[in-house]
Amino acid sequence: MGKEGKTLCKWDKDDIKDDFKELKKLVAEPRYVCRKCARAAKTDKVLCKPEEL
Ligand SMILES: [Zn+2]
Repeated sequence: MGKEGKTLCKWDKDDIKDDFKELKKLVAEPRYVCRKCARAAKTDKVLCKPEEL
């Protein structure tokens, strides 16, 4: 089961545990940061309030 449609901001600890490989892909070489949740990601699609780094 993928995390399609779910932002990284919404991942809870179980999502992180279950999809740690995918998480590593999403946060590798971060280009965006979420202004609200302080999470960083390669694509703005997985953040709720993305801002370019
Ligand atoms: Zn967010």
